[in-house]
Amino acid sequence: MSLPSSLQPATALAQALGYLDPTTGAVVPPIQPSTTYERGPDNRLLSGRLYSRADNPNYDGVEALLSHLEGGAASAVFSSGMAAATAVFQALRPGDHVLVPQVIYWALRNWLVGWATDWGLRVESVDMTDLARVRAALRPGQTRLVWVETPANPTLTVSDIAALAALAHDHGARLAVDSTFATPLLTRPLALHADLVMHSATKYLNGHSDVIAGALTTRVVDEAWQRILRVRVQAGSVLGPFEAWLLLRGMRTLHVRVPAQCRSALAVAAHFERHPAIVAALYPGLPSFPGHEIAVRQMHGGFGGMLSLRVRGGAEGALAALGRLRLWKRATSLGGVESLVEHRASVEGPQSTTPPDLLRMSVGLEDTGDLIADLEQALA
Ligand code: PLP
Repeated sequence: MSLPSSLQPATALAQALGYLDPTTGAVVPPIQPSTTYERGPDNRLLSGRLYSRADNPNYDGVEALLSHLEGGAASAVFSSGMAAATAVFQALRPGDHVLVPQVIYWALRNWLVGWATDWGLRVESVDMTDLARVRAALRPGQTRLVWVETPANPTLTVSDIAALAALAHDHGARLAVDSTFATPLLTRPLALHADLVMHSATKYLNGHSDVIAGALTTRVVDEAWQRILRVRVQAGSVLGPFEAWLLLRGMRTLHVRVPAQCRSALAVAAHFERHPAIVAALYPGLPSFPGHEIAVRQMHGGFGGMLSLRVRGGAEGALAALGRLRLWKRATSLGGVESLVEHRASVEGPQSTTPPDLLRMSVGLEDTGDLIADLEQALA
């Protein structure tokens, strides 16, 4: 952790902030599996560490790198993206009012509606692209948190982070952004005055579909952040050391993977935008996309590796095309090196608000022409 703070993301990522093992000079950190740490004869902790439910040396590199990339004061890794997201809500108090978007990762919506409300949070869902509605829904003195996801899963809906931060702050609330689809390379929510950034690190940060992890980064270390950290330590939603180690290894190529995925996703979206078998291509990089102007303002270097295609023929048409794909893998999740596609409405079940004709696509690192050709034959 010895390199200057002005480093460009590519340099910070490639060198994991210049990591060198202090005892061996190794350029890769070791995995520290110990769950416990010794005290000296005076009963003081020798290293300051106590027990691995609080933290682990393998978190340090990931958290420092994330804070660097996001421009935050501190970061914390969690056992999953859901653990990170729910820690933010669990750190609130019964009776607190929160605004969440209508388009939001479905499992988080289920948890908010099915659990958080039982524990006394007042959860209100609002169209985050309609600032007048957000303003009207904010309750001064009661609304503690505005949660937004941009681009959102699975319709890629883009929300204006700077405008939402201003609205939230005017009404005494904080803004948290699920920036999983954007990655720290394309959008820096804290620079747009958000208070917290969340990532499902399972996705682009790790990038290889072999770790479940989550992360939060805060703009300032304050009481709200301390409460969130207490949720991790006390409720024990901790990442394993091996997973943290793999995550750091994955992150070191983020700046190579994400631009390639952005280029490929844009090419796929542009190719199928006016395809006779496609009703709509949903991708923030398309000028025809409703959130494009905001995306141009708040996303830099690309519009992400995620897109959705609405297929002619409703659910039946979408599922038939899905079944004919040979190269794209029919699997949930996103952000890995292999391209994945999913019919979200089937996965989300009867409560789903996702259009039944929608296929969500995570563009990997295969040849773009091969990906387009496979989709072409499936849609033929
Ligand atoms: N946020 C978004 C946008 C997601 O897509 C996901 C998972 O798909 C999550 C949060 C939850 O992350 P995890 O699966 O790591 O718990």
